[in-house]
Amino acid sequence: MTYKAEYIWIDGTEPTAKLRSKTKIMAGTPGAVAELPVWGFDGSSTNQAEGHASDRVLKPVFSCPDPIRGGENILVLCEVFDIDGTPHASNTRALLRPLAEQFAAQEPIFGIEQEYTFFDGARPLGFPVNGFPAAQGGYYCGVGADEIFGREIVEKHLDHCLAAGLSISGINAEVMPGQWEFQVGPVGPLEVSDQLWIARWLLYRTAEDFDVSATLDPKPVKGDWNGAGAHTNFSTKAMREGYDAIITACEALGEGSKPMDHVKNYGAGIDDRLTGLHETAPWDQYKYGVSDRGASVRIPWQVEVDRKGYIEDRRPNANVDPYVVTRLIVDTCCTGLEK
Ligand code: ADP
Ligand code: MN
Ligand code: MN
Ligand code: MN
Ligand code: MN
Repeated sequence: MTYKAEYIWIDGTEPTAKLRSKTKIMAGTPGAVAELPVWGFDGSSTNQAEGHASDRVLKPVFSCPDPIRGGENILVLCEVFDIDGTPHASNTRALLRPLAEQFAAQEPIFGIEQEYTFFDGARPLGFPVNGFPAAQGGYYCGVGADEIFGREIVEKHLDHCLAAGLSISGINAEVMPGQWEFQVGPVGPLEVSDQLWIARWLLYRTAEDFDVSATLDPKPVKGDWNGAGAHTNFSTKAMREGYDAIITACEALGEGSKPMDHVKNYGAGIDDRLTGLHETAPWDQYKYGVSDRGASVRIPWQVEVDRKGYIEDRRPNANVDPYVVTRLIVDTCCTGLEK
């Protein structure tokens, strides 16, 4: 008996990495991820090596059922290593691992809201061939063929994520035609990040069968449209139990150089999206507030009522690397909460 293992990895494209994958035919039936073999690839084709020493190593770190191929087939997310065993410079997961371990006792969990936009050739799905659609306002969580474009793909993607066993917590139509969101979590930093990368791969792969592409471009259309973000919801055990810890986390994110340290790693092109005009504070200002969708960090109103819960960092771009945003938030907030 054989099965197909789709080895998926994150490449070295600048400034925003892309997903790559290839298929390995395996004998027997799939076991635990730790038992899957390492594999190699040509790093010179993915901006991860020079041609004269181009071999790079794929080490499986997460696997799940392959909902596209079905049966015994699996998806295998990998970390990229040099042949001497050091994590490749593009391997941001390797930097998250020690932080996740260091602060595991605080039980940090994340829910990430992934916004994205479908494109039909050069135009967002649903945009007229000439000119522009009606302005932002009616599309968010809309219904009906005049406002909704691509729902068939969205539903299929959701089913694929569920069949893969991912912790998808919801979906919604967004503020621009062809723009959508799904949420992953809340689960730990490595788990949410691995699952988000797999969910992104499934998004591209699902849309491919409809001749539609999906993009995480933070500002896919210039002008008076919100752009696409990846609001990152975060809590620790202490935050889930009391309000002081909620405030401590918000303050820690605002201390000293922290706002800039975070924002410059929250996805390429963040200044195009965080202008201050579209549902977030400007990229160079930090503020937090209850129910404030114009803040950098929002405390949901229910959290203030309950005096416990989580916070939402509204700044990350749709194209953010989840291994990076979760690492920075764990580092800043868990260090702040430890004091
Ligand atoms: P919004 O109102 O900002 O659109 P969403 O419903 O899209 O909110 O997303 C909220 C996210 O917050 C979900 O991914 C959810 O799993 C996550 N979440 C809920 N509770 C917590 C928590 N205690 N810690 C971290 N994330 C949480
Ligand atoms: Mn070849
Ligand atoms: Mn949302
Ligand atoms: Mn949204
Ligand atoms: Mn949100």
